[in-house]
Amino acid sequence: MTAPVIEADDVSRSFGKSGTEVLAVHHVSFRVSDGELLLLMGPSGSGKTTLLAMLGCILRPTSGHIRVQGKEVGTLPSKELARLRAETIGFVFQGFNLLSALTAWENVALAGDLLPRRPRNMHSRSVEILKNIGLGHRLYHLPENLSAGEKQRVAFARALVNSPRIILADEPTANLDSENRDMVASLLRQAVKEQGVSVIIATHDERILQAADRVIRIEDGQLTDDRKHLP
Ligand code: ADP
Ligand code: MG
Repeated sequence: MTAPVIEADDVSRSFGKSGTEVLAVHHVSFRVSDGELLLLMGPSGSGKTTLLAMLGCILRPTSGHIRVQGKEVGTLPSKELARLRAETIGFVFQGFNLLSALTAWENVALAGDLLPRRPRNMHSRSVEILKNIGLGHRLYHLPENLSAGEKQRVAFARALVNSPRIILADEPTANLDSENRDMVASLLRQAVKEQGVSVIIATHDERILQAADRVIRIEDGQLTDDRKHLP
């Protein structure tokens, strides 16, 4: 059996001061294997984004342990945490998060600035990835001139450009029509197949269930089902 790329062990996260604090994630444990596509499903407010942010080394847990490729997210010094994030994780944020003043390829190349040393070939890498996902004709377009599906593909290219081990996608099919939803699911599936990345998709969209190897469900910050394996 391959070692897990992500281990969450009794993880909790709260926000605010004690007394009035919100418990967003509550005693959550699970593992993600190499090359696995996992769906994290739950209604709005159930803790998906909070959990994803911790798995993505953006947020530290209040208690419990998260290990990303064996490294402890809770206690790793900030600089090393930033490096682990840049080298290991591609994050597809909810709502694309593209910079409006930058063209499609520049938005993708931006991910190179997060690495300790920016690779010299960021332009050619960005162009190649965009071409591979059918955006060769949109390289020099600004986000305002792209459709929602195209913006999501640019956001996806940016998550891929540093060759991550793990892709985390927060509600990647929200605001997309069925054709673009299928496109996003197949791009993520393809990244698993061709590059062996592990993918975690946070969603409340039941219509992309068929893309998953495994589904875990979260409600009120707690996992309710970590056993459902799809055929
Ligand atoms: P989901 O992504 O499933 O909609 P979230 O992780 O965004 O859920 O939120 C889970 C709970 O934590 C919600 O009650 C939300 O209001 C709360 N929460 C999330 N982020 C913060 C924050 N920065 N400050 C205070 N409360 C937060
Ligand atoms: Mg969310």
